[in-house]
Amino acid sequence: MNFFQKLARAFAPAPKGRFYNFSVRCKRCGEVIHGQVDIYNDPSLEYDANDQPFYLCRKVLIGSGRCFQPIEVVFKFDEPRRVIDRQISGGEFVE
Ligand SMILES: [Zn+2]
Repeated sequence: MNFFQKLARAFAPAPKGRFYNFSVRCKRCGEVIHGQVDIYNDPSLEYDANDQPFYLCRKVLIGSGRCFQPIEVVFKFDEPRRVIDRQISGGEFVE
């Protein structure tokens, strides 16, 4: 492994398991909702403008309270199933 591969690995660790866990906060009521992506089953294979394959997973979360604001999240994974991009509407990501 050369230096740049080591560096790349340090910044983008391989997934530690089958599930990618994330948390979001509802923009309307502030409820924190936990979600999970089955990184080997949920994402679908797509190709970008340069014909590079990637995986895309879209999920809609709704809180358990009285608020029914849907929170839509979209995750983009590279081939080793590392998250390379994510988008959210209706809420924000919580680390
Ligand atoms: Zn809400």
